[in-house]
Amino acid sequence: MTNPIFPTLCVVGPGLIGSSVLRRAKLDRSIAHRLIAYDRNPSVLERARALELADVVTDDLTAAVADADCVMLCVPVGAIPEVAAKALPAMKPGAILTDVGSTRRSVLEGVLPFLRPDVAYVPAHPMAGTEHSGPDAGFSTLFEQRWCLLTPIDNTPPDAIARMEALWHAMGARTRIMDVEHHDKVCAIVSHLPHLIAFTICGTADTLADEMRSEVLDFAASGFRDFTRIAASDPTMWRDIFLHNRKALLEVLDRFSDDAKNMADAIRGGDDATIVATIERGRRIRRSLIENKQA
Ligand code: NAP
Repeated sequence: MTNPIFPTLCVVGPGLIGSSVLRRAKLDRSIAHRLIAYDRNPSVLERARALELADVVTDDLTAAVADADCVMLCVPVGAIPEVAAKALPAMKPGAILTDVGSTRRSVLEGVLPFLRPDVAYVPAHPMAGTEHSGPDAGFSTLFEQRWCLLTPIDNTPPDAIARMEALWHAMGARTRIMDVEHHDKVCAIVSHLPHLIAFTICGTADTLADEMRSEVLDFAASGFRDFTRIAASDPTMWRDIFLHNRKALLEVLDRFSDDAKNMADAIRGGDDATIVATIERGRRIRRSLIENKQA
């Protein structure tokens, strides 16, 4: 057998993202020869065993991470520092700690106090997902053609970064190395704000009169249906993302509110040039996403 990227890979939290990593790694043993899955939740463990997601499925975090060459934390961002604090003392020297969290600044601040000089920390956020969660929701092609944003800290050994890039390339993803602050701003606009708008628009529709609500459900057009798909996402995960990327999210929300007000002014004033220019801009963005295979 050829040398794998990591002899042993341990996934902590085999939910949507973690189980997708495991599924891909099971198909491609050049990623890791031995796969370990840990979760605290007995029903997640039961599903992980039934789905045969890993060679070892355990509720013992210390044992799970002890032999791993890479420990990947796939838990909600609010839980990453606490889980890292428990995992790090049990990890072997030379191993890599990574997480897939959707926010960076607050996670980094939470994890930093527990880091060890002999364990590299290479966070890597795959820009891929669905509105579903849990071990049954994952699939091996989730990361195909998607971006994975790596945000290593200053003293991270280049070899550790290269191995994490190799892992994500083997997952089918493209990688980009990014500064923490830049990551949080980019994700606020492309992911966190759209989710905030989707949750809010569904809430607005739901608080309208009873007869209107039934019409919303009966006649839901594609625009509203698209929002409800995004709004079906996991509450714990999104609560954590909003609270942990508060600063960048509130900044882009202010920008969006100004732009929405400008659009309202254009509609109020019959300013058809502004209305058409705004719609055309949206169409251009959609076309460029399709060209970049991100649609
Ligand atoms: P998920 O399907 O809900 O899976 C999360 C797993 O972590 C569950 O098995 C959960 O078990 C476990 N967990 C939660 N808190 C834990 C704790 N304190 N200790 C140990 N295990 C714990 O979530 P996901 O969508 O895969 O998201 C996982 C991470 O990926 C998050 O950080 C998220 O920000 C990031 N991410 C998500 C997406 C996306 O679109 N979904 C995309 C990119 C990155 P319980 O059932 O006990 O909670």
